[in-house]
Amino acid sequence: SNITLQIWPRRESQRGKVPLPLQQYVEHFKEKTLSGHFNEIEKSILYCRELNDVGRFFVLLRKLLGAAAVDAEDPDDRTICVYYAGIDLPSERLALARFAEGKAKLMITTVAFGLGINIPDVRRVYHYGAPATVLEYWQEIGRCGRDGSQGRAILIDCFVPGFQSPIPALIRDCEEKKKCFRVALLSYLWVGNNSTPQVPSSTCCSFCML
Ligand SMILES: [Zn+2]
Repeated sequence: SNITLQIWPRRESQRGKVPLPLQQYVEHFKEKTLSGHFNEIEKSILYCRELNDVGRFFVLLRKLLGAAAVDAEDPDDRTICVYYAGIDLPSERLALARFAEGKAKLMITTVAFGLGINIPDVRRVYHYGAPATVLEYWQEIGRCGRDGSQGRAILIDCFVPGFQSPIPALIRDCEEKKKCFRVALLSYLWVGNNSTPQVPSSTCCSFCML
């Protein structure tokens, strides 16, 4: 697999604050925009468990991005988009088109952003809170690196209280036993299949990289 699995961190971020991995993405985004290299911004998806978080992160990141949050060529158009179940059709079409064409670089969304959407050049998939199932997580991280380039899946605040998910328990087990997170996911999905994936430890997961 060409997707590096990163877990950050073990605790919940302070409410109202943007978690560090997203702050780092904002810095990358601003630097590339200001230096005239907008096309080099890594196209990314941020998956949220709840619609509230989609809105919250959109407002927070837009504020941090400042002028970089809108297309300089067309001030009405955003360089970060939202997508969710129930979005009105014109907004949905605009968001999808801009993201596919690379005019928008970040899509903030829920599980609704999934089947039937194939955008090959996504570089990073962020998750705020662990997805409800391992299969859902596996499918969502598979939306980066489809063109074969190296991708990164960054799981943020996987222990957010109130979200039911088997993933935090898998992560605790990997931490305690110093096991590979990828192997843990694969074993969970395909019970009895214990084959070790051939991924270099430097690009595998947070536990292999330790
Ligand atoms: Zn690993």
